[in-house]
Amino acid sequence: MNPPALPDQAQCALFLDFDGVLVEIAPRPQAVQVAPALPGLLRLLATRLGGRLAVVSGRPVAEIDDFLARAAPHAVGLHGAESRGPEGKVSRLRPPPGIAAARAVLATAANTHPALYLEDKGLALALHWRGAPELEDTARQAAEQALAAAGGSLQLQPGKMVAELKPEGVSKGAALAALMRAPPFAGARPLMLGDDLTDESAFEAARDLGGQGVLVGPPRKTAATAHLPDVGAVHRWLAALAEG
Ligand SMILES: [Mg+2]
Repeated sequence: MNPPALPDQAQCALFLDFDGVLVEIAPRPQAVQVAPALPGLLRLLATRLGGRLAVVSGRPVAEIDDFLARAAPHAVGLHGAESRGPEGKVSRLRPPPGIAAARAVLATAANTHPALYLEDKGLALALHWRGAPELEDTARQAAEQALAAAGGSLQLQPGKMVAELKPEGVSKGAALAALMRAPPFAGARPLMLGDDLTDESAFEAARDLGGQGVLVGPPRKTAATAHLPDVGAVHRWLAALAEG
């Protein structure tokens, strides 16, 4: 796959994953480093694109906005369970009824194996084994048990060294399609940049709406139709797009 051609600013809508795309993945979610020039670059791009720029992440919107100094006019968090527009108000789904039961199962696993890290996002729960690859099977089993305990109100979202439980029916693809139905996105050609399995639904949604997905990182089976090798290449591509 090739790098994506630089799109026409007047017709492009940009959807950007955060971890592994705008920033390098860190051992723990709070440890990521944001390049000092990145918020300014995103602000410039958002202006050039008429506000058609959204960060679409598995993190809470508040974290994305903290890391990026609220540079993105639109932010989608928790895989689509939260969203914020330019007016600043964050809308979010109600907590799934089974999330307390799932949280208890995952907390037990994380207490039993301190090298596992439970990231409690309120509406979603992520069990990370990045610090202990040998605990992958243990973490996956705990996630399956937590899923069963939630009684169908949550679904499993596999990721890079993480198993995540998110509200049933929520996906980055659904979130992208929802944004594309309203101004300023409606009628534009969506480009989605992502690195992880959770981005595949958004690659498909972008393709179905006449745009394309861009896989960041090592090649793999994907719905994306273009490729950038790493975070540095993403930054250079974004800067070239901003220059027009
Ligand atoms: Mg990512």
